[in-house]
Amino acid sequence: MKVFNTITRKKEKFNPINKEFVTMYVCGPTVYDLFHIGNARTFVVFDVVRRYLEYKGYKVKFIQNFTDIDDKIINKANQEGKDISQVSERYIKHYYEDADKLNIKRATLNPRATENIKEMIDLILHLIENGFAYEVNGDVYFSIKCFSEYGKLFGQDIKTLKVGSRIEVNKNKKDPLDFILWKKSKENEPGYDSVWGKGRPGWHTECGSMIYKYFDGNTIDIHGGGGDLIFPHHENEIAQIEALTGKSLANYWMHCSFLSINDEKMSKSLNNFFTTREILSKYSSNCLRFFILSSHYRNELCYSEQQIIWAEKSLERIYKCYFSILDKEKGKIENVHDKHISEILNFKDKFIEKMDDDFNTSDGMSVIFEFIRYVNSFLFEFTSSELKYCKNILVELLDILGINIKEIVERGSKIILTEEIKNIIMQRYECKKNKDFVSADSIREKLLKMNILLEDIQDGVRVVEADTNVFVETILY
Ligand code: AMP
Ligand code: ZN
Repeated sequence: MKVFNTITRKKEKFNPINKEFVTMYVCGPTVYDLFHIGNARTFVVFDVVRRYLEYKGYKVKFIQNFTDIDDKIINKANQEGKDISQVSERYIKHYYEDADKLNIKRATLNPRATENIKEMIDLILHLIENGFAYEVNGDVYFSIKCFSEYGKLFGQDIKTLKVGSRIEVNKNKKDPLDFILWKKSKENEPGYDSVWGKGRPGWHTECGSMIYKYFDGNTIDIHGGGGDLIFPHHENEIAQIEALTGKSLANYWMHCSFLSINDEKMSKSLNNFFTTREILSKYSSNCLRFFILSSHYRNELCYSEQQIIWAEKSLERIYKCYFSILDKEKGKIENVHDKHISEILNFKDKFIEKMDDDFNTSDGMSVIFEFIRYVNSFLFEFTSSELKYCKNILVELLDILGINIKEIVERGSKIILTEEIKNIIMQRYECKKNKDFVSADSIREKLLKMNILLEDIQDGVRVVEADTNVFVETILY
């Protein structure tokens, strides 16, 4: 199995420290709002990394933090006239609701920054004792000149970075690249007592110190997050922990590329985001996951509603194939000549080969579609055990991607789009084309009375079961 390692800029053979057990840390959300589908990309990608490692037989200790003290949380609490813990509690609860809905497996542990203040203070004290950090007027900074390997994750000459973009300007710092470990609280700001006065730890200290604590000071196998975290966040985590321990913080650094929208990174600050909750109120979790995983995690992924509709349409082909297998299984007589088994298993091997190559979900999905074409063409020939193999492999491979197919059978809509209904939908389309909107609307109403809701999309309609909001089918004109 190969993993692309940001720190070496190469795909490397994956060799965990312990042969059976993988340790993994992924930077979690700052809990001041609902998470958007850009954040969801990162969370889903690492969920699949974890699922795949478990599929390969590893036990995985997966830790993802909640940043529950931060300027954005303080601002939100001030706006609402609430305590910061009320704000963070609310969004931690919402995180779990949305992540569960998105079928993201719960982490082994989700430590919170506020529960680990003492450990962070201890870490900073150690850094000062060992000459890696200095205090100025209640703030504490890490001195990058004391850590010769500073910049190794970022890779380029760090000195060429422009101060002010990602490097905070501050006259108290000895070097512009020095970064804050402890931030003095301003008046009326929440804070914790320390030898430097009231303040709070910096974000980079939070993750470094948690890894140190929850993995007992050991090097971990995988550290992950979105690509925006390479510099300065992860670079600074490395500096603090490696300066103290002299050991690597992590052996494999994995970074997920951005989800973009209209050629810009999706982000709260650009106000160009859709929350996961919003998307999941209209589309299924399978659909959002399918869209996210249709691109390899190191490639850019662009969001548009068209893409989500495309994902929904593609999933439909998978469901149809699965239903056909179930249908054919009914009453099938056992056949002794199972001549297709090795061909069927071959698809599973091909999928694994793609996933072994740096978790290539995109190529893995292509294998699933090849498999579906193959199953559809042999459906009438397969013996009952061959059908069973097909069904199980489909469920097994999709499960690695966190796409739950069995659930579809249980939750599926009760609506069957007969030829007659499809004709009515096409009649409505004809009316719209001829600008006879009165007739088009009356057809829409008529269908609604049959519990069928039509949502117009570019070049077609999405058919939804009106009372449950369960998606039925996309019909393209
Ligand atoms: P935050 O809550 O902003 O700290 O982000 C949580 C995680 O989502 C981090 O790993 C970020 O790198 C990641 N992230 C933020 N925006 C995006 C995006 N547009 N695409 C992919 N990942 C993102
Ligand atoms: Zn982090």
